[in-house]
Amino acid sequence: MTIILKVDAKKPSIAAIKKAAAILKSGGTVAFPTETVYGLGANALDSTAVKKIFLAKGRPQDNPLIVHVAHRDDIRMLAKSIPKAAERLMDAFWPGPLTLIFRKKAIVPSTTAAGLSTVAVRVPTHPVANLLIREAGIPIAAPSANISGKPSPTTGKEVINDLYNRVDAIIDAGHTYIGLESTVVDMTSSPPVLLRPGSITLDDLQSVLPHVETHMVIHGKNKRVVLARSPGMKYRHYAPEAHVIVVEGDAAKRPAKIQELADSYHKQGKKVGIMVRHRLKYAADEISLVGDPHETVARRLFATLRDLDAKKVEVIIAEGVKDKGLGLAIMNRLRKAAYRIVRV
Ligand code: AMP
Ligand code: MG
Repeated sequence: MTIILKVDAKKPSIAAIKKAAAILKSGGTVAFPTETVYGLGANALDSTAVKKIFLAKGRPQDNPLIVHVAHRDDIRMLAKSIPKAAERLMDAFWPGPLTLIFRKKAIVPSTTAAGLSTVAVRVPTHPVANLLIREAGIPIAAPSANISGKPSPTTGKEVINDLYNRVDAIIDAGHTYIGLESTVVDMTSSPPVLLRPGSITLDDLQSVLPHVETHMVIHGKNKRVVLARSPGMKYRHYAPEAHVIVVEGDAAKRPAKIQELADSYHKQGKKVGIMVRHRLKYAADEISLVGDPHETVARRLFATLRDLDAKKVEVIIAEGVKDKGLGLAIMNRLRKAAYRIVRV
């Protein structure tokens, strides 16, 4: 049986936090909100506890976990050395949605690192995440709290849908703030490499470290690349049950293409949902607005995919955005969720 703990995101009940922290300290699993998406946590230093995360999610064993700590100084326990460039990124963006990869110390079990010699770490700002980790007093390994391959959960309800009776506790604090997972930067190479785009954008990173590079996988040009720097890069991800057709390119041409595709799937007898940015005249079985600006799209993206799934559509035609700034992170998720990508 999973314990559900409902808390106020801004002023969480200390009793609830203590209960969840006790479960983590005794080797159990707790799903909790962060500013990005919900995470499924366990003691990062206890390989038996960490195995429960992989099992609950059905996560491939070669996909390492991000370790969450309460304070910047706590990474000294996990990382062998901390390059100057990393200190500068931490000065600028921690606490916050930025994950940094370091060479790991022996204390980090190979289960957490999925057999790699590195460890990924971040310090979340969400009050619930921060208090929970502080109270537990241990580093918490936490991937997104979804069944592996599904869109990441951005509400407590979605976590309950995916993980009820698969984990020891779920802290439900409503909607997360950003809606996309953290930006991941590999600090073990020179220059550092952006492995996963997020709400801290490439421009943000380059304003501090002009030489940060991007891994070509994140542009989606090489979908089936084998030489992924981050194990998670090679998996299909974020995909709802319905087939997602992404329409990207010229904003002026997207609406007509979306309608044309919707009509053609409809003619094949399929139930069609569309996920678009603006309220234009569309004909489809279900129409969801993800809106404007990009921050809004990011916050709603995964929840909208899940909502359309709940409405039992078979095809989701999703309007893309320009892949600049936060748009790069949005398109990275959409392309990974895609069954087919159409350019106009
Ligand atoms: P998730 O926690 O589900 O958002 O996934 C964590 C992401 O961070 C995945 O894409 C992992 O592959 C990546 N990651 C975690 N640890 C490492 C590491 N040591 N080296 C490279 N990538 C990592
Ligand atoms: Mg994930």
